[in-house]
Amino acid sequence: MVVKVGIFGYGTIGKRLADAIKVFSDEFEIVGIVKPTPDYEAEIAVSKGYKLYTYSEKLKDFEKLGIPVQGTAEELVDKVDIILDATPGKVGIEMKKKLYEPKNKSAIFQGGEKADVAEVSFNALANYDKAIGKRYVRVVSCNTTALTRLISSFLLHGLKIKRVRAYLVRRGADPKEHKRGPINDVVPDPLTVPSHHGPDVKTVIPEIDIVTMAVAVPTTIMHLHMVNIELQEKVTREDVVKMFEETPRIALLSGAKRFNSLAQVIEWARDMGKPRGDFMENALFEDSITVLDGYDVYLTMGVHQESIVIPENIDAIRAMLNLTSKWSSIEKTDKGLGLITSGKKYSF
Ligand code: NAD
Repeated sequence: MVVKVGIFGYGTIGKRLADAIKVFSDEFEIVGIVKPTPDYEAEIAVSKGYKLYTYSEKLKDFEKLGIPVQGTAEELVDKVDIILDATPGKVGIEMKKKLYEPKNKSAIFQGGEKADVAEVSFNALANYDKAIGKRYVRVVSCNTTALTRLISSFLLHGLKIKRVRAYLVRRGADPKEHKRGPINDVVPDPLTVPSHHGPDVKTVIPEIDIVTMAVAVPTTIMHLHMVNIELQEKVTREDVVKMFEETPRIALLSGAKRFNSLAQVIEWARDMGKPRGDFMENALFEDSITVLDGYDVYLTMGVHQESIVIPENIDAIRAMLNLTSKWSSIEKTDKGLGLITSGKKYSF
């Protein structure tokens, strides 16, 4: 059976979801994409062969610009098995009430929605099985995805965590967001402690003791996390490096190869011809991994906000529809999307 997919929203996340779903054409078919605005992105979608749908009141706007539309959002929902909602934060919940729920359709939401939009807040490494058979799932945000993968690596290796403290330096805007900032500032975001990221990690791994603080800075390329994980048992630096070497979606970047900054990570992705210069793994600076007193692990990692959640969305579809098991899904996703960490040897 090929699963029929509809995508709502064709922005930063939606356009990447579409291209990723297309890779797995033996499993999924994109029936259409809902876009409210006729613009250059709509033209690109059509040129890539995607069928566009819009809201009935917007049909004329598309007609005026000569951008072909196949029908209304309601019609698309009727045709699909599952919806990937990649609309801006808090729009997804409205769409759920207005369209997905009344039409009895499964949907995957993104991290900009509150956790209660769905039955499960999802990360493939942490809780794939919890999404099996569920109707509504939320793939957590870019920062939460990165932290959750990192914590899962310890838990999957049987290491007990006492507490996690993470300091997030957030990109001020995505590259295309011309109206956002800051442009000459470092903004505590929020001023208060904790930032929402720690509580958000707990929506996936409830038992974890985590506190996060965040600032926003004038960059667009990636977020940077400085993390301290205090363990309940002793480890060596070699143990920790080996553990990450065995963990899918965590890439170890070596200083010896001059991976010294986030700009170099993105340059690497661009030079490698990765679509849009995307880097879907946690970009973990290997040289930053430090173990103090045997229990305290410190590290620094980059998070490519525009693409890190894409593999998780693919896995979420498979989990919800019970198409395959956790590790087979992760392996398939990572191979298909060409993650540099695919092909790692792991036996969890
Ligand atoms: P975006 O603004 O780039 O794209 C959203 C798109 O949805 C826009 O093109 C907008 O026109 C369209 N849209 C608005 N209302 C719509 C509706 N009713 N129906 C269909 N389309 C509609 O936003 P984004 O960055 O792609 O974020 C989408 C979701 O992903 C949010 O929940 C966000 O928090 C989450 N997310 C974003 C990032 C990131 O860094 N950009 C990372 C992880 C998760």
